[in-house]
Amino acid sequence: MNATVLDGGIGDLVALVSIVLFAVGLKRLARVRTARSGNALLAVGMLLAVVLTIAQTGVVGWPWIAGGLGLGAAGGVVIVLTARATRMPEIVARFNGFGGLASALVALALFWREVVEPAEATAAAALGAVPAGTLALSVVIGGATFAGSLLAELKLRGLLRTVGGVPARAVVMGVLALAALALAGASLFVLEDATWAVATILGLAAVSALVGLLLVAPIGGADMPVVISLLNSLSGLAAAAAGFALGQVLLIIAGTMVGAAGLILTRIMCTSMNRSLVAVLAGGYGAVPAGDAQEYTQVTSSDPEEAAMVLEAAGSVIIVPGYGLAAGRAQHAAAELAGVLSARGVDVRYAIHPVAGRMPGHMNVVLAEADVPYEQLVEMDRINPEFKTTDVAIVVGANDVVNPAANDQPGSPIAGMPILEVEQARRVFVIKRSLSPGYAGIKNELFERDNTVMLYGDAKGVLDQLTSELQGAPV
Ligand code: NDP
Repeated sequence: MNATVLDGGIGDLVALVSIVLFAVGLKRLARVRTARSGNALLAVGMLLAVVLTIAQTGVVGWPWIAGGLGLGAAGGVVIVLTARATRMPEIVARFNGFGGLASALVALALFWREVVEPAEATAAAALGAVPAGTLALSVVIGGATFAGSLLAELKLRGLLRTVGGVPARAVVMGVLALAALALAGASLFVLEDATWAVATILGLAAVSALVGLLLVAPIGGADMPVVISLLNSLSGLAAAAAGFALGQVLLIIAGTMVGAAGLILTRIMCTSMNRSLVAVLAGGYGAVPAGDAQEYTQVTSSDPEEAAMVLEAAGSVIIVPGYGLAAGRAQHAAAELAGVLSARGVDVRYAIHPVAGRMPGHMNVVLAEADVPYEQLVEMDRINPEFKTTDVAIVVGANDVVNPAANDQPGSPIAGMPILEVEQARRVFVIKRSLSPGYAGIKNELFERDNTVMLYGDAKGVLDQLTSELQGAPV
């Protein structure tokens, strides 16, 4: 390894700055108000870490490094430029998967360099028992995260709704765990023959991918937010394990931070769904019962003109955004309606459900894009007691997060999930295109309540019509 200016003191200082930027950046991500600057700090910290690592390790020549960086950066830019903002949740799932894949590949490359090329000893003898163990962990967690995230992406895209219960899943998982243990032990601690060692470690990667698929397969419907946050956490843990194998402190710290942040998010998502993590991973919740497509019998619908007359007389309005607001790119239209209502003296707020949309924090991100003032965003626990004194709740493209079945029907796939209790408002307008179900795939009896009126149509179109009706109305 060549000595560089970043070895020794200066290198340590750069590493320290990078770690501090990670810590401060993550802390700032916790608040909507500071999240943008937090993200920028994290990007700078990551750039410093990458440059430092490349300068210090010199494992391969600069052309390879530049080529890899160029390819990765170009891929990232293409993905972000070609993806519609509504595809953001799937992109997040894919990036989680790529994080896991990168860690597994780093571990495999280390295995190749230290074990296969010298072809002299086992990985444990070449690297030490603990680094060899963490190398195996990186392959296992990284491989499982990659395959699980790809499956999660397919589910988020709606290409695979529910893979349903896998027969004797616990037994299969147990057998796979034993196989993984045997393959890891053989490839890293026993086999000296390079060909066999490579075959077994690739077998370990394949078994890990199967575990990832089986982990995500039966988790369906409304419980997906928990899976997404867990995969995020696992991608960090895979990186931390690779850091241990490589002896790279920066990678250990960055990976541990992502792992810990992801675990906290997983806990928040479990609380939001009122589920235990074990129960979610055991599967079964959220799987849509066959033939659940019940008919609606007594639904009242109206049009924006009539709805605007009700809004003209309202003193308080709560807007409830859901996935359809993001899918219909209606955040600016919602903000405009809120502005017109506020200008008429109406008290307007937004009710934010933690799992609304398709990724944790989805509604906050979407509404921030429309510059909705942060003080108008109210979390579920604080807004729920307010519905009963509210004149109008306008549900925009939300379905599962306002479904009273969560409270009323113990057998429902979303039973026990806290919901936004919009039905308690004096009048509820629900803007959506049809009576189709939401992500959980179940009927919503809110649509049949006496005080609910459906406003069928695309979220943006209906909101625009409401705004123009109100603009033309006398104050
Ligand atoms: P839902 O998925 O329950 O419902 C969204 C509704 O939006 C649909 O019923 C659809 O009805 C309507 N819609 C779609 N496009 C438009 C449009 N252009 N204009 C108007 N309406 C539209 O959304 P919620 O936000 O209520 O709930 C989120 C669900 O997703 C929960 O079950 C949650 O668990 C799950 N989930 C959440 C994740 C997260 O991290 N937040 C991750 C993965 C899943 P129609 O077709 O009739 O218009």
